[in-house]
Amino acid sequence: HDSKLPGNKTSIFSVMSKMANDHNAINLSQGFPNFETDQKLKDLVSKAMNDGYNQYPPDSGVQELREQISLKIKSLYGKHYDENSEVTVTSGATEALYTAITAFVKKDDEVIVLKPAYDTYEPTIMLSGGKPIQIQLKGENYKVDWNEVKSAITSRTKMIIINTPHNPSGTILTEEDMLQLQDILSDTNIILLSDEVYEHLIFDKEQHHSASKFPELSERSIVCASFGKTFHNTGWKTGYCVAPEKLMKEIRKIHEVTVFSVNHPMQRAYAEYLKNPDNYLELSKFYQTKRDLFLNLIKDSKFTYTPSRGTYYQLLNFSEITDEKDVIFAERLVKENGLASIPVSVFNINNKDNKQLRFCFAKTDDTLEKAAEILCKL
Ligand code: PMP
Ligand code: GLN
Repeated sequence: HDSKLPGNKTSIFSVMSKMANDHNAINLSQGFPNFETDQKLKDLVSKAMNDGYNQYPPDSGVQELREQISLKIKSLYGKHYDENSEVTVTSGATEALYTAITAFVKKDDEVIVLKPAYDTYEPTIMLSGGKPIQIQLKGENYKVDWNEVKSAITSRTKMIIINTPHNPSGTILTEEDMLQLQDILSDTNIILLSDEVYEHLIFDKEQHHSASKFPELSERSIVCASFGKTFHNTGWKTGYCVAPEKLMKEIRKIHEVTVFSVNHPMQRAYAEYLKNPDNYLELSKFYQTKRDLFLNLIKDSKFTYTPSRGTYYQLLNFSEITDEKDVIFAERLVKENGLASIPVSVFNINNKDNKQLRFCFAKTDDTLEKAAEILCKL
């Protein structure tokens, strides 16, 4: 049989984590914490299981959780989403993204993707018969050239995908960026798919500018989020998306036939846990301390960098250490030095000259110290 995704190889996240395990290396590659999720949250899951919430929940998600999501967004971004018709709980942000793209992209539709981009967007577009239109973010700080985005729009453009805070670069879209985007999209029918899984990881008192905050944008937007990233339990694979009813109606059709509904006890637990906003509002401070520790530990190394502004990733430039390609250097770093990272070229358009590796700092302090020790010896 012909492959539907002939260009797809195993995800770099799986490749690097396996390589780290095989070589007993410190794993700062795949993005997940190496510390435990809150015991209170685990207790809430046990309670939900013991209380008998072990059968299918409603397909769009547990009512109480949809209510809490709606309240959270209203309080943070000022936008009201109706919990009955505009919020859907998904199997991680991954399913939210898959479902959103599949619901709208048809054969030969074009979807604008800003590179480097998270690795599920383009294969999903292609499975729907659509065409990813790639635009490279500019420079080491990965800025969007909005004129280039504007020029890329054609009568076939169905969707544009943004991701803020941005994986892998750790940059964020500013209010000015969002206003420019709003302006470019006005008078079009283009859907904005906004991947905001790192919305609660934003540093140096900067603000997250959700697509939901901008009235003209939000009426054409699908916003995706992930509890795994926010609550240190990526293995629970629970997230959600919000969108105006006319879009959500179509998303739910796809959601129903792919997963129907998502794990029940975790949804009960999250619904309870979200009632205390400190559980997510404290996160930026927590991760900023980790970022600062990591950067302080490597300040005398030969790596150069701009501090990450959001996410739990830090890019480090290695051009003063080696001329190797990032993929080669990353592999050698695991095998010879015992430290795994993600080579960024895998997500770029032109991958020849990339000199940056991505390091995940969602790790205990002693893991960061051991990693920094290795980096300082290079
Ligand atoms: N989007 C981005 C930018 C990500 O980094 C990730 C990985 N967490 C996802 C989506 C998928 O999120 P989830 O683990 O909730 O499926
Ligand atoms: N989002 C995580 C990362 O960027 C990994 C998710 C995955 O393993 N697919 O590292």
